[in-house]
Amino acid sequence: MKITTLFEKDKTVFSFEVFPPKKDSPIESVYEKLEDICALKPDFISVTYGAGGSGAHSRTVDIASKIKRDFHVESVAHLTCVNSTRDMIDRTLDDFRANGIENILALRGDYVDGVEPQHDFRYASELCAYIKSKGDFDVSGACYPEVHVEAADEVEDIRNLKTKVDAGAHHLISQLFFDNALFYRFLERAKIAGINVPIEAGIMPVTNKKQIERMVSLCGASLPSKFAKIMQKYENKPDALRDAGIAYAVEQIVDLIANGVDGIHLYTMNNPYVAEKITRAVENLL
Ligand code: FAD
Repeated sequence: MKITTLFEKDKTVFSFEVFPPKKDSPIESVYEKLEDICALKPDFISVTYGAGGSGAHSRTVDIASKIKRDFHVESVAHLTCVNSTRDMIDRTLDDFRANGIENILALRGDYVDGVEPQHDFRYASELCAYIKSKGDFDVSGACYPEVHVEAADEVEDIRNLKTKVDAGAHHLISQLFFDNALFYRFLERAKIAGINVPIEAGIMPVTNKKQIERMVSLCGASLPSKFAKIMQKYENKPDALRDAGIAYAVEQIVDLIANGVDGIHLYTMNNPYVAEKITRAVENLL
């Protein structure tokens, strides 16, 4: 099923993100968690893609096809391009097709220390256009409510996003954020720029201190004082911090749904407990 058809219904789309295990862990190590996560029946699950070039895709393919085939939930495979040649992308697309994967989140990816970037694709928009020329995939893209870290400013970033949508991204998933007001302002900018595809809000329940420090340094999400106070108060009480992180994410989601967002994309961090708590709290509101 093409996931963009989900947005034609009168319902807030509710989707998850999972990631493959590290190279030195067996792939089976995530299957039990995935089964529990899939049992929550989100509208779809997206599977991240390792940042390196060659061979990075195989675990994404295995997991995305297992989610669809064995756990009966639609899947989306992420695909990055900056470290891949056109031939490598062709092979990956062949693999996606052979494994029944119909939906791709097309990304530029980040430059990685020690990996020589390739030059066939400079931006995600080029990958979107290429995938569209290669067959019947449904293509999504990423977007940044607080502006992508490399963009000169929000005007340039939104113009580039429009180029990506015009190149074939039928749906966008946002970077995580903790302040809904920033997301609403981003939606306004997108509308003014003529971006009319469905935009899902990326929500990450923060359940431990390390995770928040890592996420904020990587993506630059700003922390509202309300959120920072909660993290400070419970930073040395893991169970309380987890519950507070879940409660904060639920509050964000309730507000987003009330404001009519197209969808919620939950960064599950492969944690079935957290995914279940949040799903149960919001499933009657969707
Ligand atoms: P682009 O859309 O290409 O944008 C990158 C930068 O280039 C932006 O600053 C943009 O403004 C600028 N730009 C775009 N087009 C042009 C142009 N024509 N001219 C000049 N400037 C331009 N990374 C992974 O490695 N694996 C994953 O699975 C993964 N999943 C992700 C999922 C989501 C929902 C998000 C939000 C991010 C994900 N990332 C992942 C991270 C992503 O790869 C990085 O954020 C990366 O730095 C940008 O990727 P992009 O596709 O958004 O790039």
